[in-house]
Amino acid sequence: MRDICRLCGKHTLKIQVGRILDIQIDYFECLSCGYVQTEAPHWLDRAYREAINDSDTGLMMRNQRNARIVLGTMFMLNILEGVAVDCAGGYGILVRMLRDYGINALWSDPYCKNLVACGFEHESGSADLVTAFEAFEHFKQPSIELDRLLEISPNVLFSTNIIPEPTPKTDEWWYYGKEHGQHIGFFKFRTLQYLAQERGLNLLSNGSSHHLFTSKNINNNLWNLMMRFNKIVPRLLSRKLTSKTWQDHVHIVERS
Ligand SMILES: [Zn+2]
Repeated sequence: MRDICRLCGKHTLKIQVGRILDIQIDYFECLSCGYVQTEAPHWLDRAYREAINDSDTGLMMRNQRNARIVLGTMFMLNILEGVAVDCAGGYGILVRMLRDYGINALWSDPYCKNLVACGFEHESGSADLVTAFEAFEHFKQPSIELDRLLEISPNVLFSTNIIPEPTPKTDEWWYYGKEHGQHIGFFKFRTLQYLAQERGLNLLSNGSSHHLFTSKNINNNLWNLMMRFNKIVPRLLSRKLTSKTWQDHVHIVERS
């Protein structure tokens, strides 16, 4: 039903009308958790003809930054030698970069052909960290998707841009993504707090793009310091890590 929040199940209010692709759609905001959402998305088949949209020019820069942030987060969680699974891993760029740094990273993505990390699929089982970059705003049912991620690990590092308050009009915020139609839900900070509290998890956030649900107690200021200085993280951790680039090459050659 249209007036029920897809995240928390409480009532929503219609706040505006917008256009996605060439379709007129309604936007709703939850009166309880603040989640801003499109009407039931019936245009996704069209929106996903290419899983990664052509207007996403920030893809490579984002992956480089995210790889450094994963390193820093795993160090702070004391799981640098553990397994990281990148859900919605796209072309596999992040996993390849992480493995080059020395992290045992795997990927899963049922919707996109992996180009650079074939052979390092996550089939099943638990991990020490799950990442989901630029995925939450695509989810039809974010609570259910979050619980799926938490089945893999109690530490979920993800990115999605926090929607400003007051809620912007559809032509005032680029992140609505109306040219590709793949973004269907937007989180306020209190929406993320709600998700964390419901599950007894701690929420760390830089207040804009990157967030971490974790069962561990990590200082938010320290984590933000790491986020801010992420460019030096690989250098700081280089002695603790051994690149898997060659080892992976041998593995793939022997397998084929
Ligand atoms: Zn809600």
